[in-house]
Amino acid sequence: MWRIRSSITRLPRAEVPPEVPARIHLDKNENPFDLPHGLKKELCDELSKIPLNRYPPAYPVELEEKIAEHLGLSPENVIVANGSDELIGLSLKVFDGNHVVISSPTFGMYDFFATLEGVKVIDVPLGENFELGDVEAHAEGARAIFICSPNNPTGNAHPRKRIIEVLETGAPVILDEAYVEFARESNIDLVKDYDNLIVLRTFSKAFGLAGARLGYAVASEETADYLRRVIPPFSVNSLSLKAGEFMLEHLDYVRHVIRYILGERGRLYREFKEYSYPSEANFLLMRLDAHNFLLKKGIAVKKLGGRLDGHIRVTIGKKEENDELMSALREFIDLTMN
Ligand SMILES: *Cc1c(COP(=O)(O)O)cnc(C)c1O
Repeated sequence: MWRIRSSITRLPRAEVPPEVPARIHLDKNENPFDLPHGLKKELCDELSKIPLNRYPPAYPVELEEKIAEHLGLSPENVIVANGSDELIGLSLKVFDGNHVVISSPTFGMYDFFATLEGVKVIDVPLGENFELGDVEAHAEGARAIFICSPNNPTGNAHPRKRIIEVLETGAPVILDEAYVEFARESNIDLVKDYDNLIVLRTFSKAFGLAGARLGYAVASEETADYLRRVIPPFSVNSLSLKAGEFMLEHLDYVRHVIRYILGERGRLYREFKEYSYPSEANFLLMRLDAHNFLLKKGIAVKKLGGRLDGHIRVTIGKKEENDELMSALREFIDLTMN
């Protein structure tokens, strides 16, 4: 007699943005730029040398070393996996405790992986200015307190002081820095002082490798050692590993793209200041119910719900794409506000 595990019967399918037919995709916080032709060719030449009949390295030590060098940390602190999403699930296997704490509105995958692990999700909603609430009240017995900074979909980063206060409870903290390359500061150095901290990073946003599914976790040597134990060997494919190494060898290009996106973010923010929240990420949260209007013009943005009903999250695209978005938004504002 077989039975479906009860935690699975409660598990909704992970919420992913629906694929919509659009000319301009500003809905998934992707980097608008694929590698320029010359670099893409160079990467493909390197990929063509990889023997596909052979397994990748059991553990991606080489990429971990390159990331550690990039961060000024030791390779012992870095764990590579298939996207930081996967690392959310793996991190939850490391700690004990029967609940996790999230602060809505935030990234949906925390809820998904917690439910998958069969632990309860306690939501301490963000405050009026999207600041962290009293998550410390639920620190006791927590398997993890999730802090997303900069937060998706609100775009604000949490002050370092506040993050330290949460760490001081001693509860495990999973700090998601998926957008940190667009922010003023990182808190990754706190892994040197706090064994209860795991920081998640990704190649999907600033590094432009969303299609390669590559992410990494950073933790103290001791915590990283435990996290390594729950990672199956041979899990990251050799093509993605090469792509990640390639990007770290072309940091000037990556920095150029980041500066471009920051410039465009500023332009969009200034133009629609009245309707936008300040952002330290590659997107803007806007108080405009323009999702359907934009879609009819071939522009996909993310429609938000719940407390952010009537808001959209707009990924910063290429200049031409942003120009089209801006003129469509002006038209929307003219039509609805007058
Ligand atoms: C995009 C995003 C990620 C990245 O996930 P990957 O699995 O590495 O692509 C992680 N956290 C947040 C909050 C995100 O928005």
